[in-house]
Formats: sequence, C-alpha cells, structure tokens
Amino acid sequence: MSDIFDGTCSVFIFIYMKKIEKSDIKELFEAVKKEYSVVAPTLKDKVIGLDFITDINQIPSGFVETEKKNSYRAEKGSDRFFSYSRPYLPFKRFLIPPEFTFMKIKKENSQLTFEEVFSEEKIALFDIRPCDLKGLQILDDVFITKNPHPDSYYRKVRENLFIVAVTCFSPTENCFCSSMGISLKPENGYDILITEMKDSFLIRAGSEKGRRILDSLTGREVSQEDLAEEEKALKETEKMIIRSVNTDSLPQILYSQIESKQWEEVGSRCLACTSCTQVCPTCFCFNIVEKNSPDGSYSERIRIYDSCFSPEFATVHRFNIRQSIASRYRQWLMHKFAYWTDQFGSYGCVGCGRCITWCPAGIDITEEIKSLRGEIDKS
Ligand code: SF4
Ligand code: SF4
Repeated sequence: MSDIFDGTCSVFIFIYMKKIEKSDIKELFEAVKKEYSVVAPTLKDKVIGLDFITDINQIPSGFVETEKKNSYRAEKGSDRFFSYSRPYLPFKRFLIPPEFTFMKIKKENSQLTFEEVFSEEKIALFDIRPCDLKGLQILDDVFITKNPHPDSYYRKVRENLFIVAVTCFSPTENCFCSSMGISLKPENGYDILITEMKDSFLIRAGSEKGRRILDSLTGREVSQEDLAEEEKALKETEKMIIRSVNTDSLPQILYSQIESKQWEEVGSRCLACTSCTQVCPTCFCFNIVEKNSPDGSYSERIRIYDSCFSPEFATVHRFNIRQSIASRYRQWLMHKFAYWTDQFGSYGCVGCGRCITWCPAGIDITEEIKSLRGEIDKS
C-alpha cells in the first residue's frame, strides 16, 4: 500500500474517499455481497456474535453493548447504524475454524494418497473494528509473515478475504486498545473503511479491490469540514476509553516477576475454563487429531482449538509441565505481554477487553499487570 493512502492529499480525498448517504450503505453491502460471502455481527440469544448474512438489515443496528468485569448486556439504545462495540467472538474463527479437516488420507491397493483440503470460499469480513483488524495482522505474523514455515491453510483463506473495517466510536468500559497502540480509525490493513458520521458515511478504499467497489458507489466528495468533524469525534471517543495498560518496559518488568507470589494468588481464582482464550482475537493454539476408519483405508487429520489453560496442553511424554492453574495463567499472560515480543516483535494483545468481560471469575488482565508492575497493591 502506498503512502498516498494516508488520507492527507486532496487528490486522494477526491479519488479514494467518498461520502455516501446513510441509506446507501445497502448499496455498499450489495456490491460486496456480489463477490463475497459476507460475515458480520448478528444478534442471537441477546448477545452480539458473528454469522454469515445476506441482508444488511441483519446487522444489529441500534444495539449498544454494556460490559464490565464478568458482565455483558446488549440492548437497544442508539441512533447509530454501527452502534454496538464488537462481536463477543473474534473474526479469527473464519480464518482458523475451531475444528477443520486439513488432510484426507486414503489407502487403495496398498497405495497411500494424501489430499490437502483448502478452503476456496471468498469471504468478506464486514464491520471489523480496529482491535480485531490488528488481531488479524498479528495472526498474519504468526501464521505467515514471521513464520519460517508459513501455514498454507491460513494463507489460502487470507488470500480470499475482503475486509470492510469500521471506525470505532463505541468502546466499552473494558476496552484498553489505545494503550496497546491501536487507533480508533485504522490506517491500513483494510480494503474498505467506513466511518459513520452524523448523517452520512465516509468511505475510504485501502486496496485496489476496495477502490473498485468504491467506484461503483454513488457518492459525494469529502470536504475538509467532514474530515475535521471526523477528527473531533475520534478525539471525543478516545476520552471514553478508561482502562489502560502501561507498556513502558513491560516485557522486562514481567520477566523480573516470573517468581512473583501473584501467580499463585490469581491461580487460586482462575477456573482454567479457557473462556479467555476462546474470545481472544490473537490466541491461536491448536491440536491435531486423527479420525481413522476401523479398516485402516481412510483417515482425516483435523485441527482443533486448544488452550494453554487446558490440563493436557503442556503434557510432554506423559508429564504435565504446567500442572498448577497458576503456572497456566502465568504462561498466558507472559506469552501475550513478554514472550510474544521476542517471537513476533509485537504484543499478543490488542486491548479488546473481551477476556475481562467473559471471565467467569472476574479476572481483569489490566489489574493483574498493574499489580505485577507494583502500580497497585492487591494484597
Ligand atoms: S488478551 Fe484479552 S484484551 Fe488482549 S486481545 Fe486477548 S481477549 Fe483482548
Ligand atoms: S482467566 Fe478467567 S476466563 Fe481465563 S481460564 Fe481463568 S477463569 Fe477462565
């Protein structure tokens, strides 16, 4: 992507940005739907999740999510179209499904054949927020960019992906994305970016594919006043983010706390339920299992989600090297905020706050870090 995509030059504003009427969001959706199966936030059982949709009206417009520690509520309460915060599940399940067959092995006349199974579906992720977009970029590093053995299954899905991001104006009480260096309006990584204004949408293209769709829309030129209004709204939203993590020298401080008594304390509260790893947009661990036919003529290799909180996760040669829950919690937090920086050069957390919302024990990762840093006394 070239730096003319930084949105500062008037030619770019004229060519690659458009302002559309609110009612024309349907036109944008239909243009995306023509080429892709669309995944977007949907409301089910009073929770905003994710699903394939065929109509823009399936998006839970007007719903607002209220989140606290171990507390979630979604209810009507806004005039905005993209009023909610983000789905409780991250989009990763459409790149790395919780369970999928990646290889089929057949035996015929004593000959073995191996067939790799790739997803061919062209998927559009519609309404992905900046935290989840960053989560996707982190997964790209894990599976492709910073992996000496790139994952061909992940890469295939990624190549067929179209990304419609949405600027975030609705953080919850549990979000701490700003302190993790994530901007409410993403600068890159999308094909299309939608910013919801009072009476219109500003649409940016971030790729050639996005520009083609943008070209097909009826719209008006974006003015300097529009951009100033957008900037003002972003600044106001920043003030709504009340949680934070101090990342100054964080990996070094955490390494110095590897024997802290705090791990036992948090381990005594943690239920090792794996909920946090399931809702986390960057947790990627999986196991590989085999499904075999009894006569030995057919076998499938299946990838299935795993979690560092699972009792068997760290079992090596029948010996579990992380028997206590305290050691599993330490592994999770240390990986996100220390080991990840050594492995991939970034943190493994985007500050989406989901693990705070969905932890049944009310464990707040930002408080754990504050305590390990000596910024609060939990004793
Ligand atoms: S660790 Fe928690 S806050 Fe960070 S990305 Fe994962 S779920 Fe979100
Ligand atoms: S930290 Fe919370 S969500 Fe994560 S495994 Fe422990 S109890 Fe479950």
